[in-house]
Amino acid sequence: MQTLFEKIAAREIPAAIVYEDDLVLAIRDINPQAPVHVLIFPKTALPRIAEAKTEDTYLLGHLLMKASEVAATLGLTTGGYRLVINNGANGGETVPHLHVHILGGRQMAWPPG
Ligand code: 5GP
Repeated sequence: MQTLFEKIAAREIPAAIVYEDDLVLAIRDINPQAPVHVLIFPKTALPRIAEAKTEDTYLLGHLLMKASEVAATLGLTTGGYRLVINNGANGGETVPHLHVHILGGRQMAWPPG
């Protein structure tokens, strides 16, 4: 069965796309937790970072490089931003398809709640 984010990548479910290439897609979060809240994820379903394998190394590097580029495109570089990966139940993961949250436009708190 396809994941939610695979369906979005296949244009079966609509989303506000902010970046796309052959490997990754970046969309606006449907329930934003900051003035800018974008999700960037691989188009192929890797459930979570804990299940990444050595052969995913290039993809994971690409994902982070593109997260940085998307943040810059959205004007977040100067003010700063946060990248978040929620892994598993205690991590707060709700969509089992690896994704990086790009959060910006406000002061972030630490530690996270
Ligand atoms: P997680 O909790 O797994 O780290 O993050 C999942 C994120 O996906 C949440 O921030 C949630 O708001 C977002 N989300 C869930 N369903 C949809 C959807 O249908 N469209 C979009 N754009 N975001 C979604």
